[in-house]
Amino acid sequence: MIISMKRGATRDQIDHVCERIRGFGYKVHSIEGEERVVIGAVGVGDTTSAIEQLESTPGVETVMPISQPFKTVSRQMQPYKTVIRVNGCQIGGSDFVVMAGPCSVESEEQILTTAQAVKAAGAHILRGGAFKPRTSPYDFQGMEEEGLKLLRKAKETTGLAIITEVMTDSDVDLVLEYTDIVQVGARNMQNFALLKRLGAANKPVMLKRGLSSTLKELLLSAEYITSKGNTQVMLCERGVRTFETYTRNTLDLSAVPALSELTHLPLIVDPSHGTGRRSLISPMSRAAVAAGADGLMIEVHPCPERAFSDGAQSLTLENFGEMMAGLQPYVELWKKERG
Ligand code: PEP
Ligand code: MN
Repeated sequence: MIISMKRGATRDQIDHVCERIRGFGYKVHSIEGEERVVIGAVGVGDTTSAIEQLESTPGVETVMPISQPFKTVSRQMQPYKTVIRVNGCQIGGSDFVVMAGPCSVESEEQILTTAQAVKAAGAHILRGGAFKPRTSPYDFQGMEEEGLKLLRKAKETTGLAIITEVMTDSDVDLVLEYTDIVQVGARNMQNFALLKRLGAANKPVMLKRGLSSTLKELLLSAEYITSKGNTQVMLCERGVRTFETYTRNTLDLSAVPALSELTHLPLIVDPSHGTGRRSLISPMSRAAVAAGADGLMIEVHPCPERAFSDGAQSLTLENFGEMMAGLQPYVELWKKERG
């Protein structure tokens, strides 16, 4: 439930309400706005009697149950958008963030060349997989820690922040040592042990939508992380499986405005996995900006025909530069709209 305190409620009154909430067996998520304090009470309990009692507690204006099954990530709980700060970039705020790089880290030369080129084209964050979730066990599985070291080197050389995937909770500590943002891949969206572990991490997490997951399932997975204390979570629409075979997945751009109604978390769109086709990345990126996304994740490779994974959907360095230039007018409009 959400407890709105009266304007001018005293600190003692706020503390007392928090104490009562905990007494009912709920966790407290307090949001101190400029005008008033709003307190979220999350958990299971006897809501009806708790609501009645809290309504007559001094300093309380209104008490409302949260109708959604997800709580801390819901717009009801926090009407304003979460802003995640990474390397001077405000994700969910005034910056339209572009994360770009190869599907997999393959060699020093490959990652450094890509990092320099995506930086020059205006990307903010370098992506690259060191632990790769591949459909076939015979396919390239990633360079693991060697790959993380190369990402670090690329970061030191270019100043770009990095995002990379972690596949299992036992690798979380290792990946956290190197990365600025932790990626949870589509196949792991419901790996609850991993999500809980990331709930205790002190780095931002990008949670990708599962291959056939509903928005509600995506938000409940995000709730696994935020309810454990890590509120720096962004969501990524990367396409869902449908009957269509021309594209690798069907990029569900309606997820962007739909999720914006439901949650305050920043929203990233990945047209690379969402379409699986190089030629569709640019138009779908522009559409993502227009739909109100907070950023993009794009796969880029110096020589896609030699890529160890996802070559068909990877832009060349040159393609990426063109795509970024073409996106600029759309980003300008986006910025005007954000104010
Ligand atoms: C990736 O980003 O390289 C990746 C494996 O994405 P997804 O989890 O969306 O398939
Ligand atoms: Mn990929």
